Amino acid sequence: MTSKISVLGSTGSIGTQTLDVARMHNIKVTALTANHNINLLEQQAREFHPKMVAVLDLGAAAQLKIALSDTDIDVFCGEEGIIKAACETNCDTVVNAIVGVAGLLPTLSAIKAGKNIALANKETLVAGGSIVMKAVKKKGVKLYPVDSEHSAIFQCLQGCPENSLKKIILTASGGSFFGKKRSELSGVTVKEALNHPNWDMGAKITVDSATMMNKGLEVIEASWLFDCTDQDIDVLIHRESIIHSMIQLKDNAVIAQLGVPDMRIPIQYALTYPERLPSPTKELDLSEISQMTFYKPDYETFACLAICRKALRKGGLYPTVANAANEIAVDMFLKEKIKFLDIADIVAEAVESFHENQSEITLDDILNADKNTRIRVKEKF
Ligand code: NDP
Repeated sequence: MTSKISVLGSTGSIGTQTLDVARMHNIKVTALTANHNINLLEQQAREFHPKMVAVLDLGAAAQLKIALSDTDIDVFCGEEGIIKAACETNCDTVVNAIVGVAGLLPTLSAIKAGKNIALANKETLVAGGSIVMKAVKKKGVKLYPVDSEHSAIFQCLQGCPENSLKKIILTASGGSFFGKKRSELSGVTVKEALNHPNWDMGAKITVDSATMMNKGLEVIEASWLFDCTDQDIDVLIHRESIIHSMIQLKDNAVIAQLGVPDMRIPIQYALTYPERLPSPTKELDLSEISQMTFYKPDYETFACLAICRKALRKGGLYPTVANAANEIAVDMFLKEKIKFLDIADIVAEAVESFHENQSEITLDDILNADKNTRIRVKEKF
């Protein structure tokens, strides 16, 4: 079990819930980071007394340095500061709860520094899965999934013989617009997209859930974590978010992991593995739920899921491109510069117009594909 953690993105939804788990189990926190929310970061720093904190935004970091001047906590800034937090403190596990591909370099740095990773930041694996998995293997560190679906699969696999997995069944809530047709989605607002039925999450992942890009990113994430192909991964809509995912074994036995929708369960498992410790979360009462429903995904209306599957089949840099286009598109949607349906169109266009694939890819290839896609998408708006 982990005894010391560094939490990247500690002020976000996963970050704050990670600190709940740390508080409950007296896990020492050695570093905390944020993009610009220094008010919350200061509160966290005063409670957890990390060795250092880092803030991406330079101005905010300067303010925090003044605010924390009565403490012995070091304050760093910029991408370098975040990377320092990922690899320079004496933590044994780095929880990566940064949103977006900004989490990739800190993950790689932490792995190189020999840290285990508790990974919420799915974009790290979507954009850089090949190099991240290679680095994990080379350094012999552990990569624990935090995403509830991937944690569920990881939990279901415990005790299964190697090579017994036939397929993965990723469950999906269906997001804010489940059951709607494309024509009904043309005028939906940011507020409506952010109204998720079961989970209280950061804005980007909530929009990703509404477009089902999130499930597409998770299919790619699962392919890296569990070494499988697009064909080995089914997606099943399960509105209640009680079954967090399932595995089907070669003998057709299906194993599922169930629980109330509370991210502190998968976060805690990633930090306490293989132990099962008490949790502050609600117990699951199936009689209260009374029924669970399942549907096939609507690939036509929620095209992002199909685009991600295509990007995964094409391999190489295609997932990097799909992810970068989506990050820019979601940001523009949240700023009300584009419509909801434009998100899928932008991701599709980026993937369709990309032709520079190669089988052996380097970090520079990934960073360039990410940067060029962002430039291309922004140029059109
Ligand atoms: P939030 O937006 O709530 O939090 C993101 C965190 O990252 C904040 O601390 C934010 O700082 C920081 N941050 C934002 N941009 C940058 C950047 N460019 N560089 C460094 N730090 C940055 O996101 P979530 O917690 O919802 O999601 C985090 C990750 O976990 C995502 O990859 C998401 O897909 C994944 N995930 C989330 C789940 C959830 O329930 N929320 C479930 C499963 C996976 P600041 O507060 O200052 O902006």
